[in-house]
Amino acid sequence: MTKFRFEYRPYQRKFRQPLKTHHGIWVVREGILVRLEDESGRVGFGEIAPLEWFGSESIGDAIAFCRNAPETIDFEWIRSISFPACQFGFETALESPLNPSRVGDFEEQRHSGLLGKVEDWELLWGQRYRTFKVKIAVAPIEIEIATVESLLNELPEGAILRLDANMGLNEIETHQWLEFCDSYNIEFIEQPMPVDQFETMLKLSQQYRTSIALDESVASLEQLRDCYDRGWRGIFVIKPAIAGFPSKLREFCQQNQIDTVFSTVFETAIGRQMGLQLAAELSKRAVGYGTNHWFDELNSEDFEKLWNSF
Ligand SMILES: [Mg+2]
Repeated sequence: MTKFRFEYRPYQRKFRQPLKTHHGIWVVREGILVRLEDESGRVGFGEIAPLEWFGSESIGDAIAFCRNAPETIDFEWIRSISFPACQFGFETALESPLNPSRVGDFEEQRHSGLLGKVEDWELLWGQRYRTFKVKIAVAPIEIEIATVESLLNELPEGAILRLDANMGLNEIETHQWLEFCDSYNIEFIEQPMPVDQFETMLKLSQQYRTSIALDESVASLEQLRDCYDRGWRGIFVIKPAIAGFPSKLREFCQQNQIDTVFSTVFETAIGRQMGLQLAAELSKRAVGYGTNHWFDELNSEDFEKLWNSF
């Protein structure tokens, strides 16, 4: 069986402006780069980018896992990993080195850009973004609806807007937003309510024209499968970096033909590459990986360079 020499490097990446969501304020993205080298000297890079408040392992768990891992590993060892972000990181390193012929396809992908301030849309429009995402449920609803309404009036024709509540709405507020969205053309509202409100979201998803996308509810492949089995036929937001082994995710999506949006956890180009590849294979919607404008550091697309920037 092929053996790989394993090395890892933890990183920290400061947000240019702290990211405010209903989960709180995020200042520094911490993750781990993984490097595997086989006996013939071929190198593959992977990335472990946990999101603890979505239910993945913590960064501390992931670092401890890497620290305790042997220097030489094989497929069997990788298949036995139980942490989802680590599963993604190691299997990604196996699937690279990059096949450069596939990179061109990604440039054809449509991207969604996350707006820190609604005024940022012009900047992103200039970078050829046509889909924008705004975080809601961080300020009083009346203020947010007014802000989104004025944004919609400003956006040029052809622009598409998504909203993400990160579980921050109650049922009445979700009705309010959905009613508002139905009178405009909003692509979807992401995770309006907490994970335990599944039945309510299911009911609401059949009541309005505007789609609801589950995100926090489907962070792991297990949860994804569970929501599908319980009847969810709306949109699924998939964050591959915390969804476990890419091979298993691919299999599930192909078997069930679900409607998906692939989305970032603010990883570097190493994790993003795999996410974009999966999105190109499995999704028709604009991908949510437009996040480089959130960072000054570790923005390189060159994996060797990223690895050597510590
Ligand atoms: Mg979300």
